[in-house]
Amino acid sequence: MADAFEFSDHSHRRRNPLTNSWVLCSPHRAKRPWLGQQEKTSEGDKPAYLPDCYLCPRNPRVTGSANPDYTSTYVFPNDFPAFHKQQPAYTPEALHAHASSSTTSSGAGDATNGRLDSIMTDLFQVEGVRGESRVVCFSPNHSETLAEMSTDAIVHVVRTWIDQCKELATQPHVANVQIFENKGAAMGCSNPHPHCQIWATDDIPQEPAAELSSFAAYKTKRGTCLMCDYAALERTLTQRLVCENDSFICVVPFWAVWPFETMIVAKQHTSAMAKLSDKQVHDLADILRRITCRYDNLFTTSFPYSMGIHQAPIGPAAAGNPDAHAEDSDLMHLHLHFYPPLLRSATVRKFLVGFEMLGEAQRDLTAEQAAERLRACSETHYSKQ
Ligand SMILES: [Zn+2]
Ligand SMILES: [Zn+2]
Ligand SMILES: [Zn+2]
Repeated sequence: MADAFEFSDHSHRRRNPLTNSWVLCSPHRAKRPWLGQQEKTSEGDKPAYLPDCYLCPRNPRVTGSANPDYTSTYVFPNDFPAFHKQQPAYTPEALHAHASSSTTSSGAGDATNGRLDSIMTDLFQVEGVRGESRVVCFSPNHSETLAEMSTDAIVHVVRTWIDQCKELATQPHVANVQIFENKGAAMGCSNPHPHCQIWATDDIPQEPAAELSSFAAYKTKRGTCLMCDYAALERTLTQRLVCENDSFICVVPFWAVWPFETMIVAKQHTSAMAKLSDKQVHDLADILRRITCRYDNLFTTSFPYSMGIHQAPIGPAAAGNPDAHAEDSDLMHLHLHFYPPLLRSATVRKFLVGFEMLGEAQRDLTAEQAAERLRACSETHYSKQ
């Protein structure tokens, strides 16, 4: 049927059911010849230790204190935190005082009274945010990324994440724990020493809040978990599966925006890191090693990405937050997102600009094609082949 709609040929939009956003797919554009440059980028020396790295063992940090001579993972408070545990509570009066202070002599009264006051209350919505941020070094080795670490070493990283989540869940200022890794200069990462950050806040940030609301709506409509249903669907269809083990799948989401975006999803419904069994901890480390290794092998380069964990709200501050859906603490289905920027080679990246800033996200390579390319990559790191 020459006139039938083909997903691999015809432009279409795909909806992200987690965030209710859309991505425009233009698959015919990916039929241009693949120029995939396979040459290695110059990675230079890969020192295990750098005297001026503030994350390496024994080195001083900006605060003056020195890192311990750590041998596995190492957690410390971010020296430049995005927020603090304690600050005055936000009140609407603060907004009016702020507005008054920015209008000079004449008109100051008008700006904070009557109709303008009511408009301002509608348009300038503010919430105070308290929290804390920590840094987790994955390894004392300055150049050893997840892709090159052993599964056992990554198990230590996963256990550190879990210990941090359990401890933060007891803190009064915590409602959400966001663990994320920015890797590579392309993602604005200032230091190649393998590390991630943990931002714990007393609010639920926008992305997990949108997902929680989607999980709730889906459960109301179908009576089941959105991600349990999605994982089962992808395991049946297999087109977008990259790899799997007993506990997790790695998939290029149907609605992926970034060319080689993936999601790691727990096969069994699990809402939070702290609920993972020993077997699941091992399997999460296993699939993290395998996908990061495939990424590095794709363009024979240390693959940049932003990666993060989405889990149920935790901590006392979640109880009073409507975004937390505290009435159903089991609503969220644990998953990890990888958002890598590379498109065609170690140096050719995708930018979300133009139509993507003004219209909506767009991609050429389909999710199915990306999964096929990742499936073809080895799970032995190129540096060890
Ligand atoms: Zn270092
Ligand atoms: Zn589920
Ligand atoms: Zn998510």
